[in-house]
Amino acid sequence: MTCSWTYEHYCYCLQQAKDKGYSIISFEEVKNISQNQPFIILRHDIDCYLYRALNMARIENKLGVRATYFVRVHALSYNVFEYNAYKALKEIHSLGHEIGLHFESIDFSYITDENPREVFLREKKVLEMVLDISIVSAAAHGEHSPAGPRHNRSFFKSISKKQAGIHYDAYDKTFIRDMKYISDSFGYWREGCMCTHIGKYPQMQILVHPCWWFKDHLFE
Ligand SMILES: [Zn+2]
Ligand SMILES: [Zn+2]
Repeated sequence: MTCSWTYEHYCYCLQQAKDKGYSIISFEEVKNISQNQPFIILRHDIDCYLYRALNMARIENKLGVRATYFVRVHALSYNVFEYNAYKALKEIHSLGHEIGLHFESIDFSYITDENPREVFLREKKVLEMVLDISIVSAAAHGEHSPAGPRHNRSFFKSISKKQAGIHYDAYDKTFIRDMKYISDSFGYWREGCMCTHIGKYPQMQILVHPCWWFKDHLFE
């Protein structure tokens, strides 16, 4: 099958993974995986377009797999309190997927001169309260700042997961160095489409941004 950004190809990739014996899981499920069981942690950062995340959540549910959806509370294109966004997130969660925090705490601590940990804890609390869930996983959003101390990814360099009240940081060495990590950031598989890696590594984290994927055309 020719690689593309269609849901058809996405389904093909996941089916390939299932056929090759992988468990496809969320971050919170990692602890339940038995030794020697190959697995893929399926991660989605919802940078924008929540409805595209819902499309993926439904597709994955039909295929019997789960993912972690990382949600922002400062996004320009969606608002977790808004009717359609709220309903979409509730549905994603009810389909068995994990909701995590796509945090921007370092960015906002620079803008407002606040303590980044306090900003993080408030972002987390907002998402937990609006959806009535507990959040155990977090992933840094990386749109505003270049790499370095002002990037959200530097958050866990000075603050422990325990201090942040979470169990899993998607950028922890365990998930990006100790296992194969690939990403479609900027609408581009830097190392080739996910289908070319599946089957080559026993443990993987695959980051798929729902905003790049579509049924027939990116404009839909
Ligand atoms: Zn492909
Ligand atoms: Zn992001």
